[in-house]
Amino acid sequence: MSRNFLFLGALLLLATVILWIAGPAEWVSEHAADTMSAISLKAGLVLIAASFALRLMSPVAKQISKSHCKECGRPVARGHIYCLDHLQETVHATRDRTHDVSKPTMRRRA
Ligand SMILES: [Zn+2]
Repeated sequence: MSRNFLFLGALLLLATVILWIAGPAEWVSEHAADTMSAISLKAGLVLIAASFALRLMSPVAKQISKSHCKECGRPVARGHIYCLDHLQETVHATRDRTHDVSKPTMRRRA
């Protein structure tokens, strides 16, 4: 998101510079170039400032948002997927499943 804002802001600043050149070169009327360049300059600066603000706030937002258990939605420690109860259930279920799969099969010798 912040990258898109930065790209769009840079694009608008480039358009502003082109309008500054286009006005005196009489590619467009000077009045139109002045009006458009003022708008594009302000919009570009606002977008660049917004991109920097978003970039600064993203680590804070990650700190604030806690992760929740995948099963019950209770808040869990950072980096964890399940709460302690569901972690235990998942470990038991996985262990049972692997025991079933890893049982040796009876093979007949021909
Ligand atoms: Zn849970």
